[in-house]
Amino acid sequence: HTKSTGRNGYNFFEASMNANAAEQLQLLHDLRLAEANGELRLHYQPKFEAPAGPVQGFEALLRWEHPQRGLLSPDAFLPLAEKTGLIVPIGRWVLDEACRQLREWHLQGLDQWTVAVNLSAVQFEQPDLLGVVTEAIGRHGIPPAMLTIEVTETVAMRNPETTIETLEQLTALGVRASIDDFGTGYSSLLYLKRLPASELKIDRAFVRDMSVGNEDSVIVSAIIALAKALGLQVVAEGVETAEQQQFLTGLGCETLQGFLLDRPMTPTQILARLEQARPGESAFVAESLSPA
Ligand code: C2E
Ligand code: MG
Ligand code: MG
Ligand code: MG
Repeated sequence: HTKSTGRNGYNFFEASMNANAAEQLQLLHDLRLAEANGELRLHYQPKFEAPAGPVQGFEALLRWEHPQRGLLSPDAFLPLAEKTGLIVPIGRWVLDEACRQLREWHLQGLDQWTVAVNLSAVQFEQPDLLGVVTEAIGRHGIPPAMLTIEVTETVAMRNPETTIETLEQLTALGVRASIDDFGTGYSSLLYLKRLPASELKIDRAFVRDMSVGNEDSVIVSAIIALAKALGLQVVAEGVETAEQQQFLTGLGCETLQGFLLDRPMTPTQILARLEQARPGESAFVAESLSPA
């Protein structure tokens, strides 16, 4: 008896597959309406100057406030959005919303704040990407340098010549480019040298597994050296412990991001944080925060 065939010949395996397919279909149906229903949200995770601030900018991270399922993370719906192409209109919304938020912050006097937006492979390969970015910036009248586009190393290296061209067009607008999840893809150093990016983000898997003298810490140290040699800002993702914070700072990593410093927050939470800060004290100096 190998298959999960029940007493009545009912195949539980198939039943669960169908349930899953039905669930995915329902999710897709809901996702098509998510933007129009105003259910998409951006949360913002700060990036800190090492070791503990001040804040340098924020990364916009997509959330879906599903009416029945609650707040969903990208893992729960991005794969489906990418497979169906829905990521294109959703991604357009993300860019627009990030620019709108930047404009709002700038009008409130927070005019040094920057926002990074993640692009998936499908979005990055859209022929009208440049137009979409230009439009979002223009509509909200923000300085292009306040917007960063994050694309993963894997996506960037899929078709390096095209990537160089795309990033050249984007950076010609004044937008900045960042290579995300670095170390998990297969970069040709020749192409890396030619990429008009200004930032490289060390994937959090390396940060997580670092310990003194082990392979991951050697890799992290090599990535930092490489970034510096190429004149790129280097950011460590997924900093969760004080040890990682100290170690990365010691290696010369300029910027840190991670739950130790701050989780992704709503704009309301960010403003509340600002209001709580005592005069003369930065609201985003991580050391001054109570542990989570
Ligand atoms: P990413 O761009 O590498 O973003 C970092 C992810 O790590 C975020 O997850 C963030 O919440 C999480 N993170 C940050 N600090 C820590 C930490 O200290 N520990 C741990 N364990 N995790 C940490 P999130 O928000 O679930 O996003 C996952 C991925 O989804 C992102 O990875 C990005 O690739 C994608 N994504 C998010 N927002 C968008 C979007 O608007 N458009 C597109 N195309 N992709 C997005
Ligand atoms: Mg990212
Ligand atoms: Mg990343
Ligand atoms: Mg990632």
